[in-house]
Amino acid sequence: MIAVLKNGTTPDQVQHLVDWLKNMNLDVHISQGAEVTILGLIGDTSRVDIDLLKSLEMVETVKRVSEPFKQANRKFHPLDTIIEVGNARIGGGYFAMIAGPCSVENEDQIIEVATAVKQSGANILRGGAFKPRTSPYAFQGLKDEGIRLLLKAKKATGLPIVTEIMNISTLDLFDDVDIIQVGARNMQNFDLLKELGKTNKPILLKRGLANTLQELLMSAEYIMSEGNSKVILCERGIRTFETATRNTLDLSAVPVLHSLSHLPVVIDPSHATGKANLVAPMAYAATAAGADGIMIEVHNNPACALCDGAQSLTPPQFDEIARKVRQIREVIA
Ligand code: PEP
Ligand code: MN
Repeated sequence: MIAVLKNGTTPDQVQHLVDWLKNMNLDVHISQGAEVTILGLIGDTSRVDIDLLKSLEMVETVKRVSEPFKQANRKFHPLDTIIEVGNARIGGGYFAMIAGPCSVENEDQIIEVATAVKQSGANILRGGAFKPRTSPYAFQGLKDEGIRLLLKAKKATGLPIVTEIMNISTLDLFDDVDIIQVGARNMQNFDLLKELGKTNKPILLKRGLANTLQELLMSAEYIMSEGNSKVILCERGIRTFETATRNTLDLSAVPVLHSLSHLPVVIDPSHATGKANLVAPMAYAATAAGADGIMIEVHNNPACALCDGAQSLTPPQFDEIARKVRQIREVIA
């Protein structure tokens, strides 16, 4: 349920109303816009007397929010959420250019790629240390050593870093990581989501291979309901009957999620297509569709990559994409 307050309501009046609602065992989320204040009521709102609430002097309107996701809902928070990491911002007109290898492989590789993508205009470095691989025999990532090397690359370039967590038991290793990624395969690992909700780190939440957008938003809600509202949604392709691409990029996720939610939306054209030659067109399309960022896999030697070489771009290929993405952003601004 949301209560839109009348223009000119004083902070004291707001506080008074919030206290009254909290007394009914509700959590109250305050969204303070330039003009209006919106109170989002979370919990068992069946006990709230809507007519009584509506009749209060300071209340403009009261509406029930029918969607099961509340804190992620744009009705609760009409303005775009902007997430800050280092010198980068994501959402509300700020664009994240996230680039780096699928996996951190060694120090030279990550430093070389990080330096190159920064030069091309990337503002966040990616790199997997804990890798969720389909085969138990495939390279599983350098784990804690991978995070250590990522932190070296962060120090060398000043770029904030994003890397995936697979198990909450490793959370201590992520102390200096700027954004924690929850991969597609863990989108509905609710225990993991709840624990990440207790941290104050931004979370890059990837859509599951066979999950609806509503399910993605419900997973964001799991994180937010524990107190962490810094969630970045990521569309990375879904499983369909099509075999020409690794997954099928659901680009309409961008406007759909933007209409349903205030959270930033990032597109990953690398995992969506699985093919290096398809990354550029999908990155341009994502930018034109209004995504708040793109995440692209870049490797200094894709042919020898330990993971996802077929979809990895060389630094010069990424440089061209970054340049054209900037041009597209100017056109659609
Ligand atoms: C990744 O980004 O490295 C990754 C494993 O992606 P996804 O979870 O989307 O497959
Ligand atoms: Mn990958």
